[in-house]
Amino acid sequence: MPAVTCPFCGIFCGDLAFENGRVDTSSCAKAETGFARPVTVTEHSVGGRKVPLAEAVDAAAAILRAARQPLFTGLGTDLLGLQALLGLADSTGGVLDRWQSSPQLANLGVQQRVGCWIGTFAEVSNRADQILIVGRDPAPFFPRLFERLVHNPTPLYRKNAPQVTYLGPSELRPADRAHGGTDLAADITVPANQLYEALLVLAAEAEGRKLPESVGTSLPLAQLMGLAQRFKDGAYGSIIWDVGAFPPVQAELMVETILRIVRGINLTTRCSSLPLGATDNAMGVMQAALWQAGWPMRIGFGEGFPRHDAYLYNAERMLSGGDADALVWVAALSAAPPPATSVPTIAVVAPDTILATPAAVEFRVGIPGVDHAGTVVRADGVIAVPLGKTRDSGLPSTATIVNLINERLGGEP
Ligand code: SF4
Repeated sequence: MPAVTCPFCGIFCGDLAFENGRVDTSSCAKAETGFARPVTVTEHSVGGRKVPLAEAVDAAAAILRAARQPLFTGLGTDLLGLQALLGLADSTGGVLDRWQSSPQLANLGVQQRVGCWIGTFAEVSNRADQILIVGRDPAPFFPRLFERLVHNPTPLYRKNAPQVTYLGPSELRPADRAHGGTDLAADITVPANQLYEALLVLAAEAEGRKLPESVGTSLPLAQLMGLAQRFKDGAYGSIIWDVGAFPPVQAELMVETILRIVRGINLTTRCSSLPLGATDNAMGVMQAALWQAGWPMRIGFGEGFPRHDAYLYNAERMLSGGDADALVWVAALSAAPPPATSVPTIAVVAPDTILATPAAVEFRVGIPGVDHAGTVVRADGVIAVPLGKTRDSGLPSTATIVNLINERLGGEP
């Protein structure tokens, strides 16, 4: 039976059976909802008026021609779409940043500064005998994570199932296996405002240093020390976190502390980190930017060459601060509508996206992996995954639309 890859979270499961136009979603509710998304709107429009594609392309080109600093954001699409967007941002002197990319950049900034040991999904599912989940249950965002990484029935390099420990607020702990989660070897619950301190304790234990004097006595010290010891005694540990769970002001400090734990454990045995990041091909945005512009995301092309600036080119800050005079919003993988703004908006959106008010120009594009084939980058960043097509909607891809606009402007696709 042919299999298709699911595009609806960063795991990009490639084992979903596809037969007679129906996808067996392997009991994943997120995939079930995703593959059932309706084709509600297929027409392109200008100011809410349905128009032929060529007229919409002309209108979009006119907005971009008049703009001094267009902002390209959202960016939830496949790699060909992202490469086309980088080309259009380049030819219009625009700025490119994923919407709400700060958590992803917190991971990246720390990795740039202190280095890191990233484990792949395959490594964790085949080798890890100790797994620590930090901050919150990842299952709502990555529904089959435990099934794929923890409950691998045929691991290559470990004899027993891994011991999984959760560290974080009690209300965000994973469900047990019977309810779609995993059975925990230990559950170290600390309030969100003590999570950083708990990580400091683990880092001190991993590095063989004295505990910081500032450590609060209300922390479950014995449990934390026991956890560090289990990692030191194990053959391969993995620390998994979703930086979106961390308070923004502490996110970088917390990621840095996790990487210190990983480094400390690696002094005597093996340990890797697995930052989960965002969905909607967030890792693909990083990779495409790096391949095409030589810089990671938050890139401006206004000086005639690509320039990376993680503060200046923050999409939310630019839009609220009046630093962009046109918005190109791209969301083909999700049904996210563009943010409310007074600048002219070109919306490149999925066929089921509902906009509160019509955009200046609106293109309806296919969902990669559903309406057309494509390629995305898995959340562990090591593999570009091909997507298939599961229905015939006739909708164009993001790349097709963006390249048409760029050609209309005289740029190179
Ligand atoms: S876990 Fe993610 S990629 Fe896998 S089937 Fe569910 S939504 Fe799709």
